[in-house]
Amino acid sequence: MSDFPALADLQAAFGPETLRLAADIPERNWVDCSLEPPCRPRALLLPRSTEEVSRALAICHAHGQTVVIQGGLTGLAGGAVPGPDEVALSLEKMRGVEEVDLKARSLTALAGTPLEEVQQAAEAAGLHCGIDLGARGSCSIGGNIATNAGGNRVIRYGMARANLLGLEAVMADGTVLRHLNKMQKNNTGYDWPQLVAGSEGTLAVITRVTLSLHAPVQQIGTVALSLPDFDAALATLGRLQTHFPGQIQCFEVMWKPFMTAARDIVGLTLPFDPVPEVMALVELDLPQDADAGDGIMTALEDLFAEEVITDAVLATSQAQADKLWQLRESAVEYRAHGYRMLGLDISLPLDRMREAVETLHADMDAALPDVPVIVFGHAADSNIHVCALLTGPEDPRGAEVSRVTYDIVARYAGSVSAEHGIGRHKRPYLHLSRSAEQISAMSLLRRAWDPAGILNPGRVLPDAV
Ligand SMILES: Cc1cc2nc3c(=O)[nH]c(=O)nc-3n(C[C@H](O)[C@H](O)[C@H](O)COP(=O)(O)OP(=O)(O)OC[C@H]3O[C@@H](n4cnc5c(N)ncnc54)[C@H](O)[C@@H]3O)c2cc1C
Repeated sequence: MSDFPALADLQAAFGPETLRLAADIPERNWVDCSLEPPCRPRALLLPRSTEEVSRALAICHAHGQTVVIQGGLTGLAGGAVPGPDEVALSLEKMRGVEEVDLKARSLTALAGTPLEEVQQAAEAAGLHCGIDLGARGSCSIGGNIATNAGGNRVIRYGMARANLLGLEAVMADGTVLRHLNKMQKNNTGYDWPQLVAGSEGTLAVITRVTLSLHAPVQQIGTVALSLPDFDAALATLGRLQTHFPGQIQCFEVMWKPFMTAARDIVGLTLPFDPVPEVMALVELDLPQDADAGDGIMTALEDLFAEEVITDAVLATSQAQADKLWQLRESAVEYRAHGYRMLGLDISLPLDRMREAVETLHADMDAALPDVPVIVFGHAADSNIHVCALLTGPEDPRGAEVSRVTYDIVARYAGSVSAEHGIGRHKRPYLHLSRSAEQISAMSLLRRAWDPAGILNPGRVLPDAV
């Protein structure tokens, strides 16, 4: 193992429970949820404390050993997938909610805690965690902050970083930064926790997070709306924002090809026949005593009369709401039907979304007539997912799907990543959303924090600028 100079020091510092080598590295740590090919890292570190993270990084730093950081491995940009010469450092043993402070309405947890555990601890204390996404059972709160995750509730609570009050993180050389701030106001110099949020492991290893919690949700009203086009969805969103200020929990949009594929491939029954051009799935947080149905329908009365909305299904039971959500979440079902999904996560300006998605569908049909492409997402946040149903990671048509999608991003001045981050996958496209000057400034920050470039190299930014 002469090509692994850090090994002797790591073995002196850690036993075999914490430092895994060769066949003792589980395959689970070889890959995340992206289409990146799996790769066994040089070693796997499973620290149990911030002190152990610090010691491990100090050793790797001293030897110039590169490190890939792993949370729940649900990432979709390939950022946590190891290279063969990298040491994987997983936060999976650093798990647990340490405190819920009812007065500060804050929660502090170890970075490896699954998001669902954080949500449950908040609910048990009579409060609500503003971060929520489909991978909640597996993703870690540290990973959520590292990727500045989005999800279904961004319209109400903002992205992950909007819920962040404080952080503990370990720098590349092992230095521990601890700012587990619980105060809403703390204007004391650089807000480095916000800098680390969304840096995807390229600046520091997050070991603890302190989140701001929210008032509990009262009564959720769920409604599906059939719409003639995306502009009708925007008009509906505007009306709901006026009638229910701060109460929209989510506003998800699905375009027609998404729904026909869910019906024809997954076998789901759709709420509308004929299939509308656009469907919105809306959740509102209504007072306990309100009649959810009457309130929503009254607010939308004119839009029904003007046929801006052509039909609606109001969920009258949790089972009905779950059925509507089953359609929205159906993208995860395609694997069972023989497909591997290439999911691209982009933003487009809302005022150009209608035209951009219509052009995207037309360009995809022209370039790849045999590939089903479905478009859906958190459209009220400008965020859509463009998902192509391919045969596998090596399907050559994936490159063309990316080309067509990023061409639309460039033409309509969108963003190459709305919420999944840049990771390995989107690095070649970063320049479409960030100028050369911005990329240089980001690289400068990265070099200041990690001069030897050992943390997550090859992710987010070009290696040398
Ligand atoms: C079914 C499904 C649904 C999803 N839905 C959404 C969604 O709606 N919105 C959304 O934004 N994402 C979504 N994702 C993507 C993914 O869940 C998020 O990116 C999540 O935040 C990743 O967290 P993780 O703990 O799994 O991180 P990982 O996949 O382990 O890592 C992701 C990146 O963060 C870095 N990282 C992880 N932990 C740390 C840490 N402690 N310190 C520093 N860096 C770290 C890694 O190096 C890597 O670059 C979804 C994924 C799946 C599989």
